Amino acid sequence: MRLHDKIALITGGNSGIGLATAERFVQEGARVVITGRNQKTLDAAVTKLGPNVLGIQADLTEDGAAEHAVAASVERFGSLDILFANAGIPGATPVGGTVRAQFEQIIATNLTAVFFTVQAVAAHLKEGASIILNGSVHQVLGIPGASAYAASKGGIGAMNRVLASEFAPRGIRVNSVVPGATRTPIWATRAPTPDALEKLEAIYSRAIPLGHLGEAVDIANAVLFLASDEARHITGTEIVIDGGTIGAP
Ligand code: NDP
Repeated sequence: MRLHDKIALITGGNSGIGLATAERFVQEGARVVITGRNQKTLDAAVTKLGPNVLGIQADLTEDGAAEHAVAASVERFGSLDILFANAGIPGATPVGGTVRAQFEQIIATNLTAVFFTVQAVAAHLKEGASIILNGSVHQVLGIPGASAYAASKGGIGAMNRVLASEFAPRGIRVNSVVPGATRTPIWATRAPTPDALEKLEAIYSRAIPLGHLGEAVDIANAVLFLASDEARHITGTEIVIDGGTIGAP
């Protein structure tokens, strides 16, 4: 039990990578709070994950939403040891096709909400706690057609290192996972039909030396490691989970 008696908050825990991480955390003995916007998938996730899981509906781009989620977590389980700031939205439009509202929504969700979730959780974390942020290979690879998304995730990479320095004196670690293309509901939005998605997956796979996309559990396993005491001397770093992706597809 690598997370025995730990309490974790996972944003976007009702879907994809967040849900897979919640599942791994519960298997390893944690009690977990998951957030999401969609009440139906939130309820389904709580039912699937069992009694050690609390679901909280929250749109983290709204003022006070992160504070509410953190307060409800502490009220239910007494404290918090782990934050996986994972909630995010895609944004695959070239610069000319990106309108201001879309750009701002991507930054609000993938960057601003992450910052304020970390801020909301900070006072509750004690020595030995772990924060994990979810980045993306877009922050380093220069894949065309997603500059707003890449900017939001680049902010995560920069923030990761600063937060690690700020929290280190309190014995709290901050790290980031950097997933490559991973089969989740976000990935499925990349193409209009299952056939088109299969073709896109074949194109992406050519840029992945291991030859295929990742699964949500591949990212979850890295998050689990960073959350656990096995990573007790690791802070301010990134684990890239992308099958060795060599560039734009
Ligand atoms: P999913 O769409 O399955 O999950 C996204 C999660 O974020 C959902 O739970 C969603 O909740 C939540 N979310 C989105 N917007 C908000 C918001 N405003 N407030 C609260 N929650 C919100 O996709 P993934 O699991 O793939 O994505 C998880 C993270 O992984 C994201 O940050 C993404 O950028 C990152 N990532 C994914 C990659 C991939 O290829 N899949 C690659 C690299 C990074 P709800 O469903 O209720 O709206």
